[in-house]
Amino acid sequence: KISHNNQKYFFFDSDLSEKVQKKHSLEVMLKNSNFDKEFKLYYQPQYRTSDNKLVGMEALLRWIHPEEGFISPADFIPIAEETGIIFSLGEWVINQAMCQAKAWNQKYNMDLQVGINISPLQIENSDFVNRIRQKIHDEDIKPEWIDIEITEGVAMSSQVSMEEIFSGLANIGISISIDDFGTGYSSLSYIKRFDIDRLKIAKELIDNIAEDKNTLLIVKAIIMMARGMGLKTIAEGVEDSNQLEILKVLECDEIQGYIFGRPVPPEIFELEHIDKTIH
Ligand code: C2E
Ligand code: CA
Ligand code: CA
Repeated sequence: KISHNNQKYFFFDSDLSEKVQKKHSLEVMLKNSNFDKEFKLYYQPQYRTSDNKLVGMEALLRWIHPEEGFISPADFIPIAEETGIIFSLGEWVINQAMCQAKAWNQKYNMDLQVGINISPLQIENSDFVNRIRQKIHDEDIKPEWIDIEITEGVAMSSQVSMEEIFSGLANIGISISIDDFGTGYSSLSYIKRFDIDRLKIAKELIDNIAEDKNTLLIVKAIIMMARGMGLKTIAEGVEDSNQLEILKVLECDEIQGYIFGRPVPPEIFELEHIDKTIH
């Protein structure tokens, strides 16, 4: 019996130390990484439900390490946040995404909006709003081309300054979306308090919308409430036509998900989504 317990303990311990080691090596790799060489933004299309028109795209970060290959943002974003690398990496993401939106919009004479994921740490930096304003000015970017995606949890944090940051961003004229809406800590008061533009209805809800009546009712309530408050809605993680049909009936404004396209490199996005829109 004792040896059995010992064995179990040993197993657990080695498992844990493996995790710690893996995390440490990711940390070292991240610190030594060359952003321009190893990172790339992929883009996933966002289509308007009423006329199936392409209206924008979410920028999703990809790390393609020379030896380790593809590393998921779910693995490296938390480490980037812990180590503070998120500040420089996040800045890199903002620059890349803004330049891409500008390039496409000028080339095709469109007003596509790029959704940029922002970590709570980035936005809590007091200089965030000013730096965005400066970049938009320097790069000659229309503010309506930019959408900042913030998760519900972040928007919930009780910092007084959040209110200022949100209204600062709104004053510049860029759009603000609440990411993963409907999954977090459910207080709705901040939607009223903060100056936001769009709710991104969480994939977790969309996943069950066709099978579960209560989920359907929740999504319906979110869409109706948003409309009443003058906010747009976008459903994320839409994969099949049953889900799409329901969202059309509920008059959800926009759709993002595999049904219309996976996140792809910019070259492919241009071919598969923009060129098709133009011709
Ligand atoms: P997120 O912001 O909720 O992004 C949506 C995730 O759902 C993406 O995963 C996307 O590839 C995936 N997805 C989209 N449509 C579908 C669908 O129809 N079905 C399924 N099964 N999945 C779908 P991804 O690209 O792995 O990103 C994971 C998370 O990493 C993101 O979740 C976001 O929180 C974070 N992230 C990605 N890029 C950035 C970035 O530039 N900065 C920051 N701070 N976080 C980022
Ligand atoms: Ca997002
Ligand atoms: Ca999301």
